[in-house]
Amino acid sequence: MQYRKMGSLDWEVSALGFGCMRLPTKRFMPLQVDAGTSIKIIRSGIDKGINYVDTAWPYHFGAGERIVGQALKDGYREKVHLATKLPTFFVRKSEDFDSYLERQLEKLQTDYLDVYLFHRMTRGQFEKLKDLQLMDKMIGAKERGKIKHIGFSFHDTLPVFKEIVDYYPWDVVQIQYNYMDTGIQATTDGLRYAYDKGIAVVIMEPVKGGRLANPPAEAREIMAAAKNQRSPVDWALQFVWNRPEVSVVLSGMGSQKMVDENCASADRSGIGKLNDDDLEVINKLIEVYRKRILVPCTACGYCMPCPSGVNIPQNFAILNNVSVEDSRIRRWLVSRGYGKLARSKKQLKEDELNGSAVMCVQCGKCLEKCPQEINIPEELKKVHAIIGKHKKISE
Ligand code: SF4
Ligand code: SF4
Repeated sequence: MQYRKMGSLDWEVSALGFGCMRLPTKRFMPLQVDAGTSIKIIRSGIDKGINYVDTAWPYHFGAGERIVGQALKDGYREKVHLATKLPTFFVRKSEDFDSYLERQLEKLQTDYLDVYLFHRMTRGQFEKLKDLQLMDKMIGAKERGKIKHIGFSFHDTLPVFKEIVDYYPWDVVQIQYNYMDTGIQATTDGLRYAYDKGIAVVIMEPVKGGRLANPPAEAREIMAAAKNQRSPVDWALQFVWNRPEVSVVLSGMGSQKMVDENCASADRSGIGKLNDDDLEVINKLIEVYRKRILVPCTACGYCMPCPSGVNIPQNFAILNNVSVEDSRIRRWLVSRGYGKLARSKKQLKEDELNGSAVMCVQCGKCLEKCPQEINIPEELKKVHAIIGKHKKISE
């Protein structure tokens, strides 16, 4: 494992952090995390040198923190820096801060957090933070020894990011960054801005919710012709590690294979390790993806559950599957997958969120929840038109 500077803090962080948003599950609705496998792979990652574990209140509808707490028993807690997040979007009054923090410490079976972040900061959440004086609460918790370092995770635009960064001398910021997303959300400018202030930058979504792990044929050909042979995931991760401003890259790992491969990638990582040929390959990959991805959904699941039973990320994954590679066989496979989703309330399964795009009643309840600012109901109309009604993407 390679270790990197954690901003201005006096400890080094593993290049790879364990993101606990995509732990292995047994079924989706009602959600059941595969606790045994989750604990095994988290511990395996720590045994391979990972010393940063990141979770949050809503991960796996609240079960995530409990599993992480179990994984960090038997001496593993002392081996890592543990980060979780205040669910700012659920906070209604100032006192909610203490209530959430206490319950999170209990779930995680620990007396303190190494990093506590305001989760998913946007303009609206930032105004709430100020109105409810939540920063005073954060500082109070730090003075009482409940948290060691203060940060925020971010999903809005660069001007909002700079405003929040300037609001407080933060220890840590967590931003979405990968070779496709250098110009959205915090952007590369925001990454540099935080780094120049000595703030540790934690990267999330380095593989864009798994999208960069499954490249279309055109992108695979580019990788196959490259001087340095790498897997699609390795290309994505090395791009982020190449940057000096990055402290730790979170990967939401859901299997032992992913842990093994990502740890091996981290072993090879380093600042400035990519040469001109490598960067040229990545530029070509960016061009391929830019032409193809229709909906920038990262499958984070924040928009779920939909009251009408629509499986929102699944529908967008289906559409992007076609847009990334619109072949006859891909269309056939995708149409079959779409056809298996429910088209009426009668077909909705109780134990599985299986609604197709056509079940969206355009209520708009999901709109506020999407960190990627996707107009979900509008995009779902496109899913049904292209997959359900076989319209051409150009139409
Ligand atoms: S707009 Fe559609 S997808 Fe969004 S919550 Fe309403 S029914 Fe569900
Ligand atoms: S639509 Fe938005 S909130 Fe829903 S899974 Fe995709 S990125 Fe996440």
